[in-house]
Amino acid sequence: MPELPEVETIRRQLAERIPGRSFAAVQVHDPMLVSPEDPGIFVAQVAGQRVRSVDRRGKYLLVELESGDTLAVHLRMTGRLHWRPGAPDEEERFLRARFDLDDGSTLTFGDMRRFGRAWIVPAALPDREGYWTARVGIEPLSPRFTARVLAELLEGRRGPIKAVLLNQALVAGLGNMYVDEALFQARIHPERPAGTLDPDEIRRLHRAIRDRLAAAVEAGGASIDSYRDSLGEKGSMQDLLRVHLHAGEPCPRCRTTIRKTRVAQRGTYWCPSCQEPPPPW
Ligand SMILES: [Zn+2]
Repeated sequence: MPELPEVETIRRQLAERIPGRSFAAVQVHDPMLVSPEDPGIFVAQVAGQRVRSVDRRGKYLLVELESGDTLAVHLRMTGRLHWRPGAPDEEERFLRARFDLDDGSTLTFGDMRRFGRAWIVPAALPDREGYWTARVGIEPLSPRFTARVLAELLEGRRGPIKAVLLNQALVAGLGNMYVDEALFQARIHPERPAGTLDPDEIRRLHRAIRDRLAAAVEAGGASIDSYRDSLGEKGSMQDLLRVHLHAGEPCPRCRTTIRKTRVAQRGTYWCPSCQEPPPPW
């Protein structure tokens, strides 16, 4: 499932290619993609619009339109945005929508599982900033995300640190894979009650989150399942994962066998030696 680094990779690629261009034609092949909006209304809001910029909030990709409206896209499980300099040369599988740009290039949205969504956040919405802050918390790669801010977010929380980090309204863009990797790097067990981390652990965790996300952006994201970037290429972060998907293999730090358990309803990978379990109080 695409997380912050994967969406950021797509954002960067599209930001180099589509601002200044207009959507010459838009086709929605699967109404589910724009549900509950009527596909005809969605198309009318996008077609003919010039793209001002391509932004991101957490895992949301935001295409800012000249009308002031925002075309928001969430890839969810298997959504794929694919930009091509020309038309798709063969019938793309699982094609849900196609956006033709005025320079002959095309952007397609493919999605095998059909959980991905595209919708318009209207310019006229009274509180657009509030709309996003209700959905996404602080950007972990922004300068505003400091160890002190992380400490404030964790303070008093009794839930497992993994669940707290997966909460998009607190820290934006972290998913199962990068939370596992950051907790391993910081040597913190995924089930530790979030509010019990000491200042040193919080500093390690803060550094690990930024370090792993930055490495993943640098690597163009991780292609462990269906993820491809907007040029159809795989990322290489999957080769740099240290514990995630490595159950039964030796820990790269201490050679103890990596375990997989379930935390926050998610398959969770950790080293029982590097990441000491919390006492059973
Ligand atoms: Zn270890």
